[in-house]
Amino acid sequence: MQVLLTDNNKNFQDSIYGFLKAKFKSIESSDLKRLWQELFKNSFIKPEQSILDEALLVESVSKHLSGLGLFLLTQFTCINIINNFANKDIRNKYLNKLRSGEAIGSFSITEPNAGSDVSLIETTAVKNNNNWILNGHKIWASNGSICDLIITFAQTKSHKDKSGITAFLLDPNSKQIKIKSDTPKLGVKITPSNEITINNAEITEEAKIGDIGDGIKIALSAITLGRIYCAAQAVGLLGGLLEECINHSTKRNQFGKSISEYQSIKWYLADMTKDLDAARLLLHKACWAKENSPEELSKYSSMAKYFSTSVTQKHATKAVQILGGRGLIEGSYVAKGYNDSKVLEIYEGTNEIQKLVLTKELKLN
Ligand SMILES: Cc1cc2nc3c(=O)[nH]c(=O)nc-3n(C[C@H](O)[C@H](O)[C@H](O)COP(=O)(O)OP(=O)(O)OC[C@H]3O[C@@H](n4cnc5c(N)ncnc54)[C@H](O)[C@@H]3O)c2cc1C
Repeated sequence: MQVLLTDNNKNFQDSIYGFLKAKFKSIESSDLKRLWQELFKNSFIKPEQSILDEALLVESVSKHLSGLGLFLLTQFTCINIINNFANKDIRNKYLNKLRSGEAIGSFSITEPNAGSDVSLIETTAVKNNNNWILNGHKIWASNGSICDLIITFAQTKSHKDKSGITAFLLDPNSKQIKIKSDTPKLGVKITPSNEITINNAEITEEAKIGDIGDGIKIALSAITLGRIYCAAQAVGLLGGLLEECINHSTKRNQFGKSISEYQSIKWYLADMTKDLDAARLLLHKACWAKENSPEELSKYSSMAKYFSTSVTQKHATKAVQILGGRGLIEGSYVAKGYNDSKVLEIYEGTNEIQKLVLTKELKLN
């Protein structure tokens, strides 16, 4: 396993960070498609790349602006699903477009009555000759308002049954699909979150992804990798917070010396440094498991997501403390990071759900 990053890895990350600082200093949700396209044009995103390269990318982009991590995560999720589970026609039609950013994807399984337990989804898919008629209400679809395709999940049986849940590809421009305006949220604001209503949307058999009943398998496989991107997002944010804190505390003078000379501040910085390194190592171990030990992937991606997001949330509070009043100024790096860090503990499975995944691995009973 690669424990330390190579010079190539480090140069890759530095180049991305420098590129974003120069070209995307300020960025809106409406720029996200262009952002992906620019990352692709500049070979920071390649048609075929390792999960470690993707994680390094998400880390660097999230260090610049942590909310962007969710946009990248969602696009990679759609690419992974289409690459691994879709039929040849869908792959030919969408894979290159998603990789280059010509098309943006949204992944939509969550519903008002199906959050952590996605087997409870109520969206239905009923066969009508060779087509499917879908009806339902989705929430929290990331990239919903900027997407060109939606990967969604529906129940094909007449009652709630995991073995009936199936994945489908939807066209967001269809009249039967309504994407509501962005849901206002605490953090990660740059990536839109949307409610979607599906009202008698008729789609062809070819728009089905995988077989009937493969939905849960497809969603879990995507979310397992999503946890790696989410961990990378947290590591990027924590790295950015640490830099801000070192920068501020070494310059800020109170009572005749810089506040970094006070033990209380030094200890905050020491703890942040230690947890950042540990989070990064777990992230790299999860990337290693993806390529080398697939049976351990779920365990390590859960551990990486759980550890990195919880330490980032904990240290974001300390970062505000170190900056004092300046850490509370709306729109500042630390204030935004504080809000974003809380959101990271919720998606790709809450951190309580990560504990369930981990304890399952212990095979206690
Ligand atoms: C910013 C953001 C982006 C998102 N993006 C997407 C997306 O792109 N696509 C998508 O489909 N969904 C998305 N989601 C939805 C996300 O996956 C869910 O919010 C998450 O799975 C939790 O579901 P819930 O919010 O309904 O909480 P609930 O499932 O209602 O959980 C509430 C609380 O109960 C706890 N809990 C639940 N079950 C258990 C249990 N068995 N044991 C212990 N504790 C438990 C949870 O940990 C949590 O603390 C997003 C959410 C957010 C906030």
